[in-house]
Amino acid sequence: SAVIVAIDGPSGTGKSSTSKAVAAKLGLRYLDTGAQYRAITWWMITNGIDTDDADAVALAAGKPAIVSGTDPAAPTITVDGVDASGPIRTREVTSKVSAVSAVPEVRALITDLQRGIAAEAEGGIVVEGRDIGTTVLPDADLKVFLTASPEARAARRSGELRGKDAADVAATKEALIKRDAADSGRKTSPLAKAGDAVEVDTTELTLEQVIECVVTLVEE
Ligand code: C5P
Repeated sequence: SAVIVAIDGPSGTGKSSTSKAVAAKLGLRYLDTGAQYRAITWWMITNGIDTDDADAVALAAGKPAIVSGTDPAAPTITVDGVDASGPIRTREVTSKVSAVSAVPEVRALITDLQRGIAAEAEGGIVVEGRDIGTTVLPDADLKVFLTASPEARAARRSGELRGKDAADVAATKEALIKRDAADSGRKTSPLAKAGDAVEVDTTELTLEQVIECVVTLVEE
């Protein structure tokens, strides 16, 4: 039967790289739920919605059609048929996504999408996010919660950035801590470890070691 793996944790813990690699190794589908929240945030920005106005965001939440491609070798995301994979990674979207994702109407819509994708995933799926084990897929076969020290997370995130951002580890760390605090502090489905999740501290581990660890957990 279909295997459902939930991988949660803050940013910079290697969640995406790990989730994609585990899915590829085990022949499972892959869903990046952060990309969905980024996509709806990008749509709000490009349509002139004030992302700090929760009522305006709630009213507009149902308008964009967000579609995720779940091949771990080439995941895709479109908004109203337009490829959004580039624009969702900008600093503007990153700085506004926590406010948008805190709106309950947004979470209800995106959670429905996620459950539909997981239910239809042939063979099973690895779903990465913040509230997958606690809220979206509480019956997942395996729940992993990845952590790492703030220093390690900031360093990894900076390494992923291009151009002038690459040097600015301190600013990255500050932005990352602020986003985690917002994601952990919101009322609806905050970033949290499920009671039955396996916690993996990745601070001292290579990406390969984390992947191996999660693959072993799935196979157990
Ligand atoms: O994983 P990523 O950093 O791309 O996630 C972007 C943002 O989307 C998070 O900071 C959080 O606000 C939101 N998010 C969420 N629930 C999830 C996944 C992401 O609220 N399951």
